[in-house]
Formats: sequence, C-alpha cells, structure tokens
Amino acid sequence: MDNQLIGKRVDVLDKGWVELIDLMPHPASNISGDLAIVNAARVSFMGESKGPEKDKKLLFYLLRNHHTSPFEMVEFKFRVRAPLVTWWQWVRHRTWNFNAQSGRYTPFEENDFYVPDVWRKQAASNKQASEGEVDIATNAALTAKLNSLYEQSYKLYEEALQAGVSKEMARLFLPGFSVYYTWVAKIDAHNLMQFMRLRMAGDAQYEIRVYADAIYEAFFKPALPWTAEAFEEYIVKQPSK
Ligand SMILES: Cc1cc2nc3c(=O)[nH]c(=O)nc-3n(C[C@H](O)[C@H](O)[C@H](O)COP(=O)(O)OP(=O)(O)OC[C@H]3O[C@@H](n4cnc5c(N)ncnc54)[C@H](O)[C@@H]3O)c2cc1C
Repeated sequence: MDNQLIGKRVDVLDKGWVELIDLMPHPASNISGDLAIVNAARVSFMGESKGPEKDKKLLFYLLRNHHTSPFEMVEFKFRVRAPLVTWWQWVRHRTWNFNAQSGRYTPFEENDFYVPDVWRKQAASNKQASEGEVDIATNAALTAKLNSLYEQSYKLYEEALQAGVSKEMARLFLPGFSVYYTWVAKIDAHNLMQFMRLRMAGDAQYEIRVYADAIYEAFFKPALPWTAEAFEEYIVKQPSK
C-alpha cells in the first residue's frame, strides 16, 4: 500500500480538496486494508491469511455474496473542502460521521465561493439533470455576473460584521449554495462503496460526482486495490440489492 496516502490532498473543483487524515488499519501496522477485511471474515473460523491468491478469492466471494460486515473493518477519515451545494447532497448519506467548520465562529473569506468552469444546460429528458454547456459568450457573461454577486454579497457581509452583527446572522448576506465549507468526514469501506456507487454514477450532480471520483481514484483504489477491483465488478457494473 502507498505509505504516503495519509496527508495526501487532491484538488477538486476550483477551490475545494479532499485530504486523507487517517486510515484504519493504519499503514504503520503493515496490515493492508484488503487483508484486514479477509482476516475479519476468517475470524468466523478463527483463521488468518492463507496467501494472496486465496485471500483475494475470499474477498471477491464476500463482496459478490453481500457478506459486507468485514468491509466495515476498514475506515477512512477525510478533511474535505466543498461548496454547500455539494454538502447539501453529501449529508443525505447517513452512514458518514461529520464534524463541520462553524460559520458562527469562523468568519468567511472573500474568496470562499464556488465559481464553475462552465454553465451546464438543463437536460431535456431529466428534470433533475444537466447536459452540454451554454455558448462561450453566455458562459463568460454568467460568470462575470456571479463574481459580481459574490463581491456585492461579501461587501454586505463585512458591513454587517462591522456594524456589530454576529457572524451567525451576517452570513445571511452570503450566497448559500456557493459557500465553501471544510468538514471532517469519516466512513467505513462498506458504506463508502454505497456512497461511491450512487455519487460516481452519471445521474449524480457534477459537483458531488467529482468528489466521489477523487475519493475513489486517489484514496480508495490505492488503499484497497483488491476491494476496488471487486467493487468495479460487483457493485458498479451490477448495482447491489
Ligand atoms: C441521483 C440522486 C438523486 C437524488 N435526488 C433526491 C431528491 O430529489 N430528493 C431527496 O430528498 N433526496 C434525493 N437523493 C438522496 C437519496 O434519496 C438518498 O437520501 C441518498 O442517496 C442516501 O442514500 P441512502 O439512504 O441509501 O444512504 P445512507 O443514508 O448512507 O444509508 C445507507 C443505507 O443504510 C440504511 N439506512 C440508513 N439509515 C436508515 C434508516 N433511518 N432507516 C432505514 N434504513 C436506513 C438504508 O438501507 C440505506 O440504503 C438523491 C440521490 C441521488 C444519488
């Protein structure tokens, strides 16, 4: 396993990121996450590793047959910076444990707002989705308007603070869906696979899909290479029950 995974940070969207801050089993234990899953399954008959070939076969058997509790023995703890439009969807997944930056305590900075690269058009066939992009001129005009809104909102926020208004109320001037927040988020491998199945899918909103993709590519795959292979085979290709 990649020993540099803890502390690794990958950029997402214009100002967001995902950083792995802890992992169980910890890399210093010299027990890979895949092996921790296999060993947990073998406790049923008080056994441990039987060599890579048999171990990998058992892990695939477990996932294929929805024997999921051994996958809960691996845990990931992230620090994530994402706009509220992303968190709004992320918190619906109740199996995550969260702790969030407080907008009542920490003032927002001038640049704490999400500016999309492109403005996607409303999808014709799905009322909840987007497809394609607006033309270049419209894109530039909308982005300029968004930046001007952020500037104006932030000015009003600062004015309210200077007038002695509390941070918890002054933030009413900020454009809610766009504000970046930093959270600590922890989850086990089983529930992370369900999150990734739903949020890496084509019908998930881009602003959360890029976070799910980043978690999968930068952290899940290198931490759990066998599980990632089985995940692609049994969960992504054949949605679980
Ligand atoms: C593309 C997409 C569009 C969506 N659109 C909407 C929308 O328009 N409106 C909206 O409100 N939501 C929407 N959602 C959110 C969706 O309804 C789920 O809330 C979200 O995907 C979390 O799924 P979950 O409950 O399976 O996950 P988790 O909360 O992580 O739960 C995992 C599993 O644990 C079990 N579980 C957890 N808590 C309970 C409980 N209290 N009781 C029983 N079983 C439990 C369930 O089996 C559940 O599947 C959307 C999600 C996606 C992916």
